[in-house]
Amino acid sequence: MQAFIQNNDLLAFTLAHPQHAEPIRQTNHWATITLEDTGILRIEPQQGSQISLVISAGVHGNETAPMELLNKIVQDILAGRLACSVRLLVIFGNPPAANIGQRFTHTNMNRLFSGAWQTVDNWEGHRAKTIETSISDFFAEQPKHQKLHYDLHTAIRGSKYPKFAVHPFTGDKAYDEQQLALLAAAEIEAVLLSHQPTTTLSYYSYHVHGAQAFTLELGQVAPFGENDLNKVAAMDKVLRALIGSAKLLAGDAKRLKLFQVIDVLTKDAEDYQLVIPADFKNFSDFKQGQTLTHSSLSNYQVKADGDALVFPNTKLPIGQRSGLVVRQTDLSRLQLE
Ligand SMILES: [Zn+2]
Repeated sequence: MQAFIQNNDLLAFTLAHPQHAEPIRQTNHWATITLEDTGILRIEPQQGSQISLVISAGVHGNETAPMELLNKIVQDILAGRLACSVRLLVIFGNPPAANIGQRFTHTNMNRLFSGAWQTVDNWEGHRAKTIETSISDFFAEQPKHQKLHYDLHTAIRGSKYPKFAVHPFTGDKAYDEQQLALLAAAEIEAVLLSHQPTTTLSYYSYHVHGAQAFTLELGQVAPFGENDLNKVAAMDKVLRALIGSAKLLAGDAKRLKLFQVIDVLTKDAEDYQLVIPADFKNFSDFKQGQTLTHSSLSNYQVKADGDALVFPNTKLPIGQRSGLVVRQTDLSRLQLE
């Protein structure tokens, strides 16, 4: 097939056209391939399985390892080295931010989904709308398919469990055991079970489209070209098995450390402080009674040995979330299907 993207390098093309690209569609003997906008590529095989799969990366522009991982997969598909047996939608989220090595240009895009893009009139708002429309159209055209969405990230902060998943808030729905096994196969070590709806991209696909969807944190942020993709080899293997042969690899879900949210910490005053070291790692745990936060209005003491903290942040306005206190739970306590 005549390559419509030079060297089949979707990432290079995307970064060269950060804001917009005219749609291109090409049908060949094995698939219809559509570039819907810059960094948004749909691949629909003529003969495929009953799976519609979305893989997104770079919703935060400086999180380069997942973009490099995903680009290699796309390159191998377009070059004919990897079969594509699922309907596939690939998304590079925030190319202008990627070009300047920043998380975002105006607004954190992973707070702008499920319509929250309507609250901001800037690049990330417009892009979030475009991404939502692409996903919505993609899933709507094959409503009977198994819908999957993996949103790939890396973190700025270190983590006791370098690879972890954020599971969308389920409401009263059961957890999908097959997906937990797939996370284990991808060497995800921990799963944070969300306690409420959010405006993240993965929650959008889960809640609005009924997809099994996850935010996957795959290690730490590094510039383009400085990532050791061997560290994400297991995730690469899982994605390639899924794309190449519609196979959901399964690891031992019992090995996953599962965490439920027990308290939401909120910055309540200008002098609010978290009592943690500057190099604090997510999921580090505490002893009962330890003071975790203090301000002129409040303090927070750890309620039980082993309670842990994730996503600590005090560089934010009063009233916003400064961290989540989490506690380990067991697979046997989850409602599974
Ligand atoms: Zn991120």
